[in-house]
Amino acid sequence: MTNKSDEILSLKEEIALVSKRAFNRGLISGTGGNISARINDTNQVIVTPTAVSLLDVVPEALITVDLEGEIIDSPFGLKPSKETTFHIAAYQFRPEINAVAHLHPPYATAYSNKARPLPLVTISSRVVLKEVPWVECAAPGSSELHEYVKEALKKHGDVKAFLMKEHGVLALGGDLKAALYITDLVEATAKIAFIESNIIGKP
Ligand SMILES: [Zn+2]
Repeated sequence: MTNKSDEILSLKEEIALVSKRAFNRGLISGTGGNISARINDTNQVIVTPTAVSLLDVVPEALITVDLEGEIIDSPFGLKPSKETTFHIAAYQFRPEINAVAHLHPPYATAYSNKARPLPLVTISSRVVLKEVPWVECAAPGSSELHEYVKEALKKHGDVKAFLMKEHGVLALGGDLKAALYITDLVEATAKIAFIESNIIGKP
């Protein structure tokens, strides 16, 4: 039987792994993006630090916050991602969600600028994603963006991903890998939609 600290350590290791995979897959660049996971049966969330590339995330540097956004633990003294507030909103609105990935994949971000839902041009995207609504643009880390995301979460109670206008993608998962794969599928769908629009002129 693993105890709670083993469980937390393994969750941190998985966040670091998923962060690197997201970077290496081209779903994020520079020091952008942030990933978090809920600690089972608690009101606490582990989140990546601000100003650190997801490529360089190590388990020891990850930060634990509560659902009010208060820092519970930051072993290296780093600050949590400035987007932690909308991660917390996702956990508050969606009790079944245990992981959140906010990344900036280029094709999906380009479609976000159209200010309409992602065109779901493949059968798998329609089956898995059902709908990918868009969220209005505001400065990263701003209370305005937090409000936009909160409104979207309230309005679309069961979607797995949102396009964030002129910004990126917000993906929600039952676990970390699910949040990563949802983002990957959103980006692949956007890429196919782009190729299709160049071949046959739509959507
Ligand atoms: Zn962002």
